[in-house]
Amino acid sequence: MSGFLPLPAADGGMRRARTVDDLGPDELDGQRLLVRVDYNVPLGPNGEVTSAGRIEATLPTLERLGNAGATAVLVSHLGRPEGKRDPAASLAPVARDLSGRLGYEVPLLEAPPGSTELETQVAEIPSGRVALLENIRFHPGETKNDPDLSAALAALAGGFVGEAFGTAHRAHASNVGAAERIRADGGAAVAGLLMAKELHFLKECVAKPERPFVAILGGAKISGKIELIRAILPKVDRLLIGGAMANTFFRALGLETGSSLVEDDRVSMAAELLELGGDTILLPVDCVVADEIREGAETRVADRQEVGPEDRIGDIGPRSTEIFSREVRGAKTILWNGPMGVFELEPFARGTNGLAHVLAERADAGVPVVVGGGDSAAAAEAAGVAERMTHVSTGGGASLDLLAGSELPGVAVLEMVETETG
Ligand code: ADP
Ligand code: MG
Repeated sequence: MSGFLPLPAADGGMRRARTVDDLGPDELDGQRLLVRVDYNVPLGPNGEVTSAGRIEATLPTLERLGNAGATAVLVSHLGRPEGKRDPAASLAPVARDLSGRLGYEVPLLEAPPGSTELETQVAEIPSGRVALLENIRFHPGETKNDPDLSAALAALAGGFVGEAFGTAHRAHASNVGAAERIRADGGAAVAGLLMAKELHFLKECVAKPERPFVAILGGAKISGKIELIRAILPKVDRLLIGGAMANTFFRALGLETGSSLVEDDRVSMAAELLELGGDTILLPVDCVVADEIREGAETRVADRQEVGPEDRIGDIGPRSTEIFSREVRGAKTILWNGPMGVFELEPFARGTNGLAHVLAERADAGVPVVVGGGDSAAAAEAAGVAERMTHVSTGGGASLDLLAGSELPGVAVLEMVETETG
C-alpha cells in the first residue's frame, strides 16, 4: 500500500504489518492460504444478504491472491450461534453473494475442521479460486481460541491472511490461534488489503496527523469511550463533543440536563477530562430538546444553560453545529466517532447530518476524514455521504480499541516489517 504512513518503532525505525502485497511469488503461486474475513453481514427475512459492504471490501485481497495463483480458504463467523449448528446463521447466503461477485461458484464447505472430508475438499479447490468454510462459530472452540480448533484450521493452509478487522479485538481460534500455529510452522501471517487500510487510517494516520487535527466524539455513552478520550486528547488540536456524551460533561459544568441520558457515575470523570483538556475540548452551546425522544416529537432549540427540568436533549443545536463545522473546515486531519444526536429519529438528526455533510466536503477537498464506530458509519450512510469519506471503518469495537491505543490480538499475531523512514 504505497503512500501509507508507517508507524514509528521503538528504535526510531518504522514498522507496519506485512501485507499480501509483500508476499513473494513462492508464497502465493500454487499455495493455499487461510484467509480470515469478516462476513458477519445482515440477512433479510428470506436469508438474503441485505448489505454486502463487508463482502465487497475483501474483493481486492481475493483478486490479488487469485491473480497470483493462490488458493484461499475463507473463514468467517456470522451472528452468535453460541457454538452450535444453527441454519439461520449459515454462511450459505454469503457464499451465493460471493459467487455472483467472483463469477464462479464459491463452495460452502460444511465438514468440520479436523475432518478428512474437509481436508479433501480443500485440496480440491482449483488454483486461483476460493472456498468458504461454514460459520466458524458453530464450533464452541472458536471464541475460546481453542488449540485443537486452531491446529485443525492451521492444517488447511500454509499461510495466513488476517482480513477480519471487525474481529481483530478478539482472540479467537480462526483469527489468532490458527495464525500463531501457521507462523510457528514457518508459514506467513500477513494483513489483507482491507486490514492494512484500516490500520493505516485508524492507527498510522492518527499517530502522525497533519495539523490541525480535529476529533469529533459523540454517541450514547462516555463509559465505553473513556480510554478513547484519554488517548485522543493529547493528540488532537480540538476535541468536539456531542451526543449524549456531552450531557455528562454539561453536568460536570453544573448545568441542568433535565431527563436527558446522563451517566451520573461519570460526571467527576468528565470534570477531570475538562480540566485536562482545557481549551482543546469544545462542548455544544445549544441543544435540540423535547419532552420525549421519539419520531414526530415536538422539539425546541435551547441554549445549554436554558435546558429545563422536564427536557430531554436529543441533538446538538444549530449554533453548535455551526461552531463545530467551522472547526472542521479548518482541520487537516479529521476523526469522527459517535453521532451528535439520536440521528435514527428525524427530529434529532440535523446536527449529525449537518456535520456529516461538512466532513464529506473536507474529504472531497483531500483532507483525510476517518470514521470509526458502527453507529457513526450508519449515520454517514443515512446522511448519504459515506462514499465520500476517506475511510469508514468496517469494525465498530475494533476501531474504538485501536483508536484508544490498544494492541489488537488479531493484529499482534501478524508479521511486522521495517520500512524506509520518510
Ligand atoms: P458508535 O457506534 O458510532 O461508536 P455509539 O454506539 O457510541 O456510536 O452511540 C450511538 C448512539 O448514540 C445512537 O444510537 C444515538 O441514538 C445515540 N445518541 C446520540 N445522542 C444521543 C442523545 N442526546 N440522547 C440519547 N442517545 C443519543
Ligand atoms: Mg454503537
